[in-house]
Amino acid sequence: TPPVLDVRDLSKTFAIRRSFFGRGGGAVHAVDGISFAIAEGETLGLVGESGCGKSTAGRAILRLTEPTAGEVWLDGERIDGLGAGEMRLKRRDIQVVFQDPYSSLNPRLRARDIVAEPLRNFASAIPGGIEERVADLFDRVGLRPDQMDRFPHEFSGGQRQRLVIARALALKPRVIICDEAVSALDVSVQAQVINLLARLQRETGVAFLFISHDLAVVEHVSHRVAVMYLGRIVEIADKAALYGQPRHPYTQALLSAAPVPDPDGRRDRTILKGEVPSPINRPSGCHFRTRCPSAAAECAKVSPVLRDVGGNHHVACHLVEG
Ligand code: SF4
Ligand code: MG
Repeated sequence: TPPVLDVRDLSKTFAIRRSFFGRGGGAVHAVDGISFAIAEGETLGLVGESGCGKSTAGRAILRLTEPTAGEVWLDGERIDGLGAGEMRLKRRDIQVVFQDPYSSLNPRLRARDIVAEPLRNFASAIPGGIEERVADLFDRVGLRPDQMDRFPHEFSGGQRQRLVIARALALKPRVIICDEAVSALDVSVQAQVINLLARLQRETGVAFLFISHDLAVVEHVSHRVAVMYLGRIVEIADKAALYGQPRHPYTQALLSAAPVPDPDGRRDRTILKGEVPSPINRPSGCHFRTRCPSAAAECAKVSPVLRDVGGNHHVACHLVEG
């Protein structure tokens, strides 16, 4: 069977106008030829610092932004070229959960109608009554029946995210893209929502692309993990290998960086030393070389390709031996 989600050489380039850029305009290679596949019932974590392109990758897969190049396959069907109408139908199978549930919920709709909305749009596909289905979804995500008539502002942040998850699950999608889906929640609530996602995956076989800057959360939820830096995947491996034996100098630096307190005091965040170079003007060769402790002359000249170093572990670094 084909993977549920198969992303091949996906790129997204944004043109920058002359007036903005100074001399002659330019381009931001936000996503630069990334490839990965996710199987049924699998969670792939996509991790990296702010601005690495991970959110743009998710948006390009969903066609919330048009990919510049590459292919996206869903259950063996290519979807990147579909027209708007066909893509709307595909959204039954590929759903999204963003960081801020409040902004993605209509404040004037009651919770029951928020969850029922996608069901009504695809009513012919729903055996049994919509009301029954909504009640079942509330139960699955741990919301109470007496909460069905509430409005979004009457829920806590964690409950609102449960509501968004219920809506995302309504049409039994094959894959859900979670973009910082728990990042705005308190740590204890994060754990509850993560456990909910894991249980729903066991029950339904849904696949997740779990996008986050938070290494600890990604380690907790993922089966495999891909690390992005300035638009490219630099390492991708099974979770245990990636966290236990990271091979790319960037992944090693991320994992060994000292945790510093988050300004909101919510949780410790790992912050790597040194500035991320501008995505408008990435270093030649290996984009990580300006922060890499192992950089050699070759690294400025030749861009390392992602290659298999054994055990389904892929690394893009000249110094890593297969
Ligand atoms: Fe560092 Fe060179 Fe490897 Fe890039 S290719 S991560 S600069 S050693
Ligand atoms: Mg983001």
